[in-house]
Amino acid sequence: MKVVLANNLGFCKGVEKALEKADKVCAEVGGKRRIYFYGEIVHNTLVTDAFTKRGAVMIKSPQEIDEPGIVIIRAHGVSDEERREIIDKGNEIVDCTCPVVLKGQRLVRESMLPVIVIGYKGHSEVNSLEGSTEKEVRVVSSISDLDNVSPGKYRGVVQTTFSNPLLNKIIEKGEEKGIEIELVNTICKASVVRRKCVENLSKSVDAIVVVGSKGSANTRELVETAQRMGTPSYLVENINSIPTEVFSYNIIGLTAGASTPCSQYLKVMERLERI
Ligand code: SF4
Repeated sequence: MKVVLANNLGFCKGVEKALEKADKVCAEVGGKRRIYFYGEIVHNTLVTDAFTKRGAVMIKSPQEIDEPGIVIIRAHGVSDEERREIIDKGNEIVDCTCPVVLKGQRLVRESMLPVIVIGYKGHSEVNSLEGSTEKEVRVVSSISDLDNVSPGKYRGVVQTTFSNPLLNKIIEKGEEKGIEIELVNTICKASVVRRKCVENLSKSVDAIVVVGSKGSANTRELVETAQRMGTPSYLVENINSIPTEVFSYNIIGLTAGASTPCSQYLKVMERLERI
């Protein structure tokens, strides 16, 4: 089997910087002070497991902090309230929020218009955007969510890993309903570039394998990008989860989500090349 790698794949700058910062904290204070990770630093189980093995404690809410220490904020941010609660409990914060997410939070906070966040409900980044202001924020994840929005003018801020085609449909449908969205498209460059590479790769391979965690929105979006191009695509977490169907193709295109370590996708690549 021939395996062709996407021109751009794996860790983005935001993830690299977040992991460098977290690694430094673990190396310098590990064992001396309690280190908490607030949510998954990036959406990848191999990465989070590695920090747990180094003694870090994974938490999902400030209530889980039993002793003050250092709290490492995930790349996709936290709400203002969560940040306040962490500080009030006597912790030091190491903020690994990606600069693109911080920009989205700032846009929400400073908007003079009511805000619509276009993103997947419940996703950590969407929660952090929603929680960047005390004003009411509407979250729109699908066209049907527009039914709950009154006609008028809104500032639109987008989850960094949201689907481009769905975003366009939401804007278009909103216009038809008198919902005028003044959009700042905050889908990040890393997501855009990786999707473009998948589109190009789809033209010359039989199928695409995307390596990464199911919990990663940008990874899932790469699978959908290939599918929109009419190319069969598969989300693979490790060599044991490669669907047997994949082994029937001659040429496979391989890419990886922005939170997938190089070692993880190279192992899958080696396994496929052995066919
Ligand atoms: S995927 Fe985009 S938003 Fe998320 S960490 Fe990477 S650069 Fe930042």
